Amino acid sequence: MAQVTCSFCGRNKKDVDLMVSGISAHICNFCIDQAYQILGEEEKTKKPDKNHKFKLKKPKELTEFLNEYVIGQFEAKKVLTVAVYNHYKRLQQKTNDDDIKIEKSNIIMVGETGTGKTYLAKTLAKVLEVPFCIADATVLTEAGYVGEDVESILTRLLQAADYNVEAAEKGIVYIDELDKIARKSDNPSITRDVSGEGVQQALLKLLEGTVVNVPPQGGRKHPDQKMIAVNTENILFICGGAFDGISRHIARRLNTQPLGFGKAEDKAHADRDNLLQYVTAQDLKSFGLIPELIGRLPVVTHLDPLDKVALKSILTEPKNALTKQYQKLMDMEGVSLIFEESGIDYIVEKAMEYNLGARGLRSICEAIITDAMYEMPSNNTKELTIDAKYAHEQFDKSKFKKLQVA
Ligand code: ADP
Repeated sequence: MAQVTCSFCGRNKKDVDLMVSGISAHICNFCIDQAYQILGEEEKTKKPDKNHKFKLKKPKELTEFLNEYVIGQFEAKKVLTVAVYNHYKRLQQKTNDDDIKIEKSNIIMVGETGTGKTYLAKTLAKVLEVPFCIADATVLTEAGYVGEDVESILTRLLQAADYNVEAAEKGIVYIDELDKIARKSDNPSITRDVSGEGVQQALLKLLEGTVVNVPPQGGRKHPDQKMIAVNTENILFICGGAFDGISRHIARRLNTQPLGFGKAEDKAHADRDNLLQYVTAQDLKSFGLIPELIGRLPVVTHLDPLDKVALKSILTEPKNALTKQYQKLMDMEGVSLIFEESGIDYIVEKAMEYNLGARGLRSICEAIITDAMYEMPSNNTKELTIDAKYAHEQFDKSKFKKLQVA
C-alpha cells in the first residue's frame, strides 16, 4: 500500500499525530494548525464595508436613549449628545466644497466619583455606530517609564474598530480619570513628573491630531514590532475626572471675580452646594492641567452630585436598574423578590452615608442580599421581601459595616 503523506508538508503519517484524508489529498495536524493561524490573521486584517453609511442620530434622540439608563445629568447629556452629533456631521462633511472646516470639539466632564461619567460614556457607546473605547489615564506614563504609553489608547480603539484603521480614525475615545495626571506641584523640576505633566504633553499630541504609530496588540513599542499608523485628527476625545478639590478653586475664583464681570446678584445666588456647575477652563488650569491641553478640550461640562432622590431613582427606574437585576436573578430561581419602600430608603441612606455615589448602591445591595442568594437556591423559599428591618439586619452582619465611613 502506498505511503500516506501530508499533501502540504510531505510528512509521513507515522511522524504526525493526526492525518485527515480527503478525496485525493491528506493534511496533517501541523498543517491544520498553521492553516488555522493564517485564517485568524486574515480575519484581523479584513476591512469591513467601506461604504458603510453612518446613521445620523439627532441630539434629542441620543438623549432619549441615554435617559432610559442614566438618571439626571441633563447638562452633561446635552453637551455630550451635541458633541457626538457634530462629530457625525464632521465625518459626513464633504471636503473641498468650501473653505469652512468644522473642527472637532473634544470634551471634558467634571463630576464627583460615582455620578455617572463612565456610565454616560458607556451608554453612549451603545448607540454609536462609530468605534468607541474607554481608556484610563492613571495607567499612562511618559514613554520609557513603567506603565502604558499614551499610544495604547489607540490600540484599544483599533481593536474596537476590528483593526479597520479608517473607521478607528473617526472613532470616539473616553479617557477616564484625567484629573490623576494633573501636575503634582508648581515646580516640575524637583522630581521628574513622569505620570503628570509628561503624560499631559504626550496626550496633547493625540488630541491635537497627529499620525501615531500604534502597536496593534498593545504593550510597549519595540524595534521589531509591526506598527499601524493612525491619524488622530478626526478622533473625538471625551475626558472625565472627579477633580477632587476643584471646588476650592471655583469658590476662590467666584469670590475674587473682578467687579463688573458678572452681576453682583449672580454671585450672591451662586449655589454653594454644587460649585462644579460653574467650572471653567481657568479652574482646570489652577487644578494642574496645562493650558495647551485645556485648549484642546474646549467644551467643559459638569455632572451633578447625586442626592437621595437621584439615588433612589437610580436604584429603581433605569431599564437595567439594580433592583430589576436582582429581581430577575431571583425570578430565575423561582423566587419573587419584593423591595419595599422602606428597604429602598435604607439602601439609599447607607449609600449617602458612605459617600460613594451610585457606586455604593451595588455593594450595599450585595451586602444585604448575598445571604439570601446563597440560601435560596437550596431551599424552597418562594418570596423574599426587603424592608428596612431585613436590610438593616443583613447590613449589620456584613463586612461593609466594619468599613470606615468615608
Ligand atoms: P464615575 O462618575 O466615577 O465614572 P460611574 O459612571 O462609573 O461613575 O458610575 C458607577 C455606577 O453607578 C454606574 O455603573 C451606574 O450603574 C451607576 N450610576 C452612576 N450615575 C448614574 C446615573 N446618573 N444614572 C444611573 N446610574 C448611575
